Amino acid sequence: MLKLYNSLSRKKEFFRPRKGKKVNLFVCGPTVYDFAHIGHARTYIVFDMIAKYLKQKGYQVFYLQNITDIDDKIIKRAKEEGVFWKDLSRKYEREYLKDMKALNVNSVNKYARATAHIKEVISQVKRLLKKDFAYQITDGIYYDISKFKDYGKLSGRTVLQAEDAISRIDEAIGKKNKGDFCLWKFSKEDEPKWKSPWGWGRPGWHIEDTAITEKYFGPQYDIHGGGRDLIFPHHEAEICQMESISGKKPMVKFWLHTGFLTVRGEKMSKSLNNFVTIRDFLKKYSPRLLRFFVLSTHYRSPIDYSEETIKQMKNQLERLDDFIEKLSSLKKNSSKTKKITSLMKEVEKEFNEAMEDDFNTPRAIGAVFKLITKVNSLLAKGKLTYFQGKKILKFLKKVDQFFNFIFLGRKKRIKIPLEIKKMVQEREKARKEKNWKLADEIREKIKALGYQIEDTKEGPRIKPIES
Ligand SMILES: [Zn+2]
Repeated sequence: MLKLYNSLSRKKEFFRPRKGKKVNLFVCGPTVYDFAHIGHARTYIVFDMIAKYLKQKGYQVFYLQNITDIDDKIIKRAKEEGVFWKDLSRKYEREYLKDMKALNVNSVNKYARATAHIKEVISQVKRLLKKDFAYQITDGIYYDISKFKDYGKLSGRTVLQAEDAISRIDEAIGKKNKGDFCLWKFSKEDEPKWKSPWGWGRPGWHIEDTAITEKYFGPQYDIHGGGRDLIFPHHEAEICQMESISGKKPMVKFWLHTGFLTVRGEKMSKSLNNFVTIRDFLKKYSPRLLRFFVLSTHYRSPIDYSEETIKQMKNQLERLDDFIEKLSSLKKNSSKTKKITSLMKEVEKEFNEAMEDDFNTPRAIGAVFKLITKVNSLLAKGKLTYFQGKKILKFLKKVDQFFNFIFLGRKKRIKIPLEIKKMVQEREKARKEKNWKLADEIREKIKALGYQIEDTKEGPRIKPIES
C-alpha cells in the first residue's frame, strides 16, 4: 500500500483519498515572467510521474495547476522591457507549455490562469472580511494572522517567527501584524487593475490558488504539491485563507514538497549567474535525460546539477538503450531456456515496494538496473529466449508509463554495418589471445571508418563517432 510523506504531519502516512478512488491534485504553477529553469522542471516532472503512477494504480486523478499571470514580477519585467504586461505573461506562458510538452509533462487536466478567476478571488476576500479574518488599509486588504489559531501548522512557524521573515511577506504601513499578507492589492496609476467592491486592484499571490482550488475542488481536496521553498509563507497562507473561509479542515489531506535543486552545490540565482533554463538544457541534451536525472533522486532530497553528473546519466541511458536493443532483436527460434520467473518476481517486488514507499524512484530505478545486469549476463551466454525478452520488455513498458525515459523519445540505434561487426569480433579474438597490438590496430581501423568501441563489463559497445 502506498505511503506518502505528508509535510503537514511530518511523517509517512498510508495514502487514502478523501472519496474512493478520486484524487484531486493541485500543484503551484509558474509565475510567467521568464523562461522556466531546471529547478521548476524538477517539480513538474515529479508531479507528472506521481499523477501517472496514481492513474496506473486505478485512481481517477484530476490534476489542476494555476498559472500566475499577474504579479509584481510580471509588472516589473514588463516595465523594464517596455511591453504590455499581458503580452509578456502570455509569451512566457506559451514558452512554459512548450517546455512541458517537450518533457512529456502532459498529465495536467487543467491550467487555470489567475486573471481568469478574479470573480472567485473577490468572493473569497469578501467572505474573509465578513468573518473578520481580513482588514482594509490604504494600499490593500490584508489577512490578520493573529485571528487564525492554527497559523504555522504546516511550516512550524509561530506568529512571532513570521515577524522575522517579513522580507518574504508583503510590506506595508499600517498592518496589524508584520506577518499579515496581502489578499487584494489596490492598483497604482499605471498598473493592471480589476474592479472590486473596494476599488480597482489585483489579487495577492496566495489567494489565487485557493480561489482556483475552491472553484474546481471545493474547500477540501487530496494532494497539494509544490517546491519546498513555497511552504512558507505561500502554502501556510493558503491554509489560513481556505480554512478560515470554510471552517473545514484540513484544506488538504496530503502536502507533498519537492527538494531543492542546486547547481554545482550552489543555489541557482541571478547574482551567481548559474541559471540553467529548461531551454538551455534541451539545446544540449534530450528531454528523457532530464526526466531520468530528476527521477534518479528521491523527490524530497536535494539534487545537485552538474555537467559531469549529466554525462554519467547519459551513459546509463545508453546502457539501458543497448539492453532494449538486445531484447528486441532476440529471435523466435532461439532454443536454450533458462527461466527468469523468479528473477522477474524479485525485481518487480523490489520495484513496487520502492514506489509504494513515498515514491522511492532511485530504489525503483536501481531494481531496473539490477535486472539489466543479471539479464545481460544471460544474454551474453545466449540463454534468454524471445518470449522471456518479451516479458522483460512488457515490464519496462509498464514502468515507462510514468517514468517516460525508458522508451519515450528513445533514438533508434543506428544499424552497425556487418563489416564493422566482423572487425569487432576479430578484435575481441585478438584481445582474448592477448594480442594487444593487433587489437589496437583493428580499433584504429574501425575508428577510421567512423565508429568507436567502448569496452564494458558486458562486452564491447560500438557506436558511430559523433561529429
Ligand atoms: Zn501557489
